[in-house]
Amino acid sequence: MLTRRFLLTNSAIGLATWLGSSRLFTVSAAAAAFQVAHTDAEWRKLLTPDQYAVLRQGATERPFTSPLLDEHRPGIFACAGCDMGLFSSETKFESGTGWPSFWAPLHDNAVGTDQDSSLGMTRVEVHCNGCGGHLGHVFNDGPKVTGLRYCMNGVAMTFKPAIA
Ligand SMILES: [Zn+2]
Repeated sequence: MLTRRFLLTNSAIGLATWLGSSRLFTVSAAAAAFQVAHTDAEWRKLLTPDQYAVLRQGATERPFTSPLLDEHRPGIFACAGCDMGLFSSETKFESGTGWPSFWAPLHDNAVGTDQDSSLGMTRVEVHCNGCGGHLGHVFNDGPKVTGLRYCMNGVAMTFKPAIA
């Protein structure tokens, strides 16, 4: 049993290392198994062109363009790709960056991260753990609560207001 656990742990680390070293996060996202999976053609049909560019191709929306930037009602921000809840309005804050920003995900398993070395920068990419869709990046200059700033593309999310 111990041996088996050791092997499993080791292979998990091996996979994580490989994922982290892959240059394009889209490759790693495709390699990992997500609960919601579609072919590229299906994603193109399911998503708007802007949603597809961000969620499936890792594009970044222009700052100050998302209506979710000014969404201040209580509720849940969900993935536009698979509808899974990602962030609560309770952790949303004004970062001044022009992208909806949060200091924590809805729960530990809502989002996953990967190393992103594109554009000559080393950043931590954030994706939905339901479908692997790219959401944005996380930085270490957030509010003191967690010190994290989840910098999200509004187009990759939908908002579900809490029922009053
Ligand atoms: Zn998703």
